[in-house]
Amino acid sequence: MAMLDVSALLERRLSPGYWSLLARVSEAAADAGVRAYLVGGSVRDMLLGSAPAEMDLAIAGGPDDTLDSLAARLGGAVRSASQFGTAMIESSGILFDVVRTRRESYSRPGALPTVEFTSSIEEDLPRRDFTMNAVAVSLDRDSWGALLDPFDGRRDLEAKQVRVLHPRSFVDDPTRILRAARYAARLGFGFEDETARLLTDGLGYLGAVSGDRIRRELERIFAEDRVAAILELAEERGLPRAIHPALTLGGPLAARLGDGAAPSPAALLAALAFHASDAARDGLAQRMRLVSDWAQAVRGVGKVKARFGPLSRAELDASDLYALMADVHDGAAEACALATDDDCIHQRIQRFRRDLRGVRPILDGRDVMALGVPAGSPVGEMLHALLNARLDGLVSSGEDEKRFVRQRLGAASSTPPSHTRHSTATIAADSKYPPIGGHP
Ligand code: ATP
Repeated sequence: MAMLDVSALLERRLSPGYWSLLARVSEAAADAGVRAYLVGGSVRDMLLGSAPAEMDLAIAGGPDDTLDSLAARLGGAVRSASQFGTAMIESSGILFDVVRTRRESYSRPGALPTVEFTSSIEEDLPRRDFTMNAVAVSLDRDSWGALLDPFDGRRDLEAKQVRVLHPRSFVDDPTRILRAARYAARLGFGFEDETARLLTDGLGYLGAVSGDRIRRELERIFAEDRVAAILELAEERGLPRAIHPALTLGGPLAARLGDGAAPSPAALLAALAFHASDAARDGLAQRMRLVSDWAQAVRGVGKVKARFGPLSRAELDASDLYALMADVHDGAAEACALATDDDCIHQRIQRFRRDLRGVRPILDGRDVMALGVPAGSPVGEMLHALLNARLDGLVSSGEDEKRFVRQRLGAASSTPPSHTRHSTATIAADSKYPPIGGHP
């Protein structure tokens, strides 16, 4: 196995806090009779010349409670752990991931792997996704800083390409297809030729992966800075469709992702399902076993699209916009704003989300009753009218609102029988501002 001393790199790239943590891990591992390694993304990032964003460690050897005793030796604590030999440990204010070295095998494409612990890092690295991640740095006292790079990940980093470790990689675990697109677009890499071919061949296996696992990888994509580039690459390679036929990156979505705050993950998924039918979106929600926010965002898209006619009317008061959007899940609203190619609708939905959704009258039910509005439904009607008046800029201060209420009460009490009511009210008495508290 190629061995290169990268101890100088460790010292240069790691923050002093990270570096001294590794030094302490090295001591603790020696005391416990196990071997410790920095692995995966943190090594990759250092080799690429950047400071690793997080620390991933692997521990080879030791009994089942090895990670607990390591945490104790570090004077730290295990924050979360799984029965699969993975843990999150906190020590000196640093949170890091630790795994016990393992071998993995797959019973069928897309299934969760069968895990078997091994006491050697050499047996652990081959289970990893890409050559650039199948790298480790020894933290052993005797070989501190030795780089283990059995698949020549450094060569691929230099060639700026994502390469799988073996031809069955995407079949064993098709979520690696999503990971490949994420890394390629994040790092500005291409796919090595054979990997590109295997990726295309593997698309059909994405259907075999559980909704939960797909969702987890999508969340990772949605959390990336370069999400638009990742989705564009994914679309180019046919990934969204392969996950579910409802998904496609179309219209101005990618361009809009660059603007403003990052959308919620639920909204992003719903935006990718914007062009599908209601039935297809429903199928997607079931396929991905979406719950709560994600399900409501995806399922809510149809409701918003059904209102695109009125939403694009030339004249639309703020209160009209509010009435069209108030019962819509925010993720669905955001999704439609992102995905629509109608700029006017985009602006209006964003205006609703930004400026209107949270608007409330200053007066409450008690206040309007004190002004003479009879208890019962007239209170709700008056508050609704007040809200509309506020949305449309007819009132701003609390005094304005009181005046508005008194005026409406006055209008109502002087309202003639219903068939002529509309012609005489002091404030336009259409459906938005009906007379309130008057006689039937
Ligand atoms: P980064 O994106 O910076 O690599 P990450 O948090 O996405 O970080 P993780 O998903 O935590 O990376 O994975 C950590 C390491 O575990 C990876 O570097 C990779 O070697 C390995 N790994 C993760 N998922 C898989 C997978 N599906 N198949 C094989 N190896 C994986």
